[in-house]
Amino acid sequence: MDQFERLAQLPLRDDLRGQHPYGAPQLDVPILLNVNENTHGVPADARVAIMDAVAAELEGLNRYPDREFTVLRQELANYLGHGLQPENLWAANGSNEVLQQILQAFGGPGRSALGFPPTYSMYPLLASGTGTAYIAGERAGNYELSAESAARQVRDLAPNIVFLCSPNNPTGTALGADVVKAVYEAGEAAQAIIIVDEAYAEFAHDGTPSALSLLPGRPRLIVSRTMSKAFALAGARLGYLAAAPEVSDALRLVRLPYHLSAITQATAVAALRHSASLLANVEQIKIQRDRMVNGLVELGFSPAPSDSNFVFFGGVEHPHELWRALLDRGVLIRDVGITGHLRVTAGTESETTAFLDGLREIKAGEAESGLGINAEPS
Ligand code: PMP
Repeated sequence: MDQFERLAQLPLRDDLRGQHPYGAPQLDVPILLNVNENTHGVPADARVAIMDAVAAELEGLNRYPDREFTVLRQELANYLGHGLQPENLWAANGSNEVLQQILQAFGGPGRSALGFPPTYSMYPLLASGTGTAYIAGERAGNYELSAESAARQVRDLAPNIVFLCSPNNPTGTALGADVVKAVYEAGEAAQAIIIVDEAYAEFAHDGTPSALSLLPGRPRLIVSRTMSKAFALAGARLGYLAAAPEVSDALRLVRLPYHLSAITQATAVAALRHSASLLANVEQIKIQRDRMVNGLVELGFSPAPSDSNFVFFGGVEHPHELWRALLDRGVLIRDVGITGHLRVTAGTESETTAFLDGLREIKAGEAESGLGINAEPS
């Protein structure tokens, strides 16, 4: 009996039957460029500060942590700026949990959430886990989402929640403020909660606006962020949001008691106090991201403009075969299941070189292998 047959014997909820869990491969490969982690690691000064901060918590670990994560909220407000106060901030174990709590509070049976695929693959899963209907909206052929189109879809479909991912995963491109404003206004009739998922905001090109500047006067707008990417803390699990204070009041109704451990809080606070060295690495990553984009163009692929720490590139004739050929060279990237495309995370300088060299090598060998890595331009 395989795993699915065994699962079928359990009294699983009907709406979860046949669903597949989130499953980016976790393989033991030298160069991991598949889940948009920060490839530069935690800088030494932040590591020391985290160690000291965690050590200071150990004696009190017999007690439950501060349920209101007061110091962390203050530090997050300081970091974000935009006049935000601690009461505008909320945090959880990764922005996945933040999004889940939003769905628990504002979605649920009889309610719906609208996303615009291709977008972050967890939105439909978080929706189904909370009994919320997921509606797949539409983008233009080049994956762009205009203010006019997004607003029309929100008006027509009247969802309770809208996910706007900016910069979008997997395409990497940020949305203009006009899209957020138009979607917010279009959601007025259904009183929709508008989530702008800015997990990758720190990697955006200079001058890209954040939806944080749109928060004043928009009580249904939520901007979600994470420390998993720019802050290199994917392993620590800390996501957060900025919104009107009453959003946190709603989330207090669904969060588990003491959901943020004292260790998590101490780690995040120490990292935020060392944001300078962490954000210096963000600049290095942006350089490697741009190197990847240029290298991919030279190799005949068509990368999408990237405001994130990854690059989505088209013009791939056989995505899965190319993914496999790179894996054979010790480079793991992501096949996101989109025809003609692959996604790769910006690496360190040497990882980026290994990725581009690998591609070059595969291309050079394509005549013999018959792999044909570049699609004919259409
Ligand atoms: N939003 C987007 C767009 C993401 O790509 C990810 C992770 N890859 C997340 C949210 C969740 O990240 P985390 O839970 O680590 O904060």
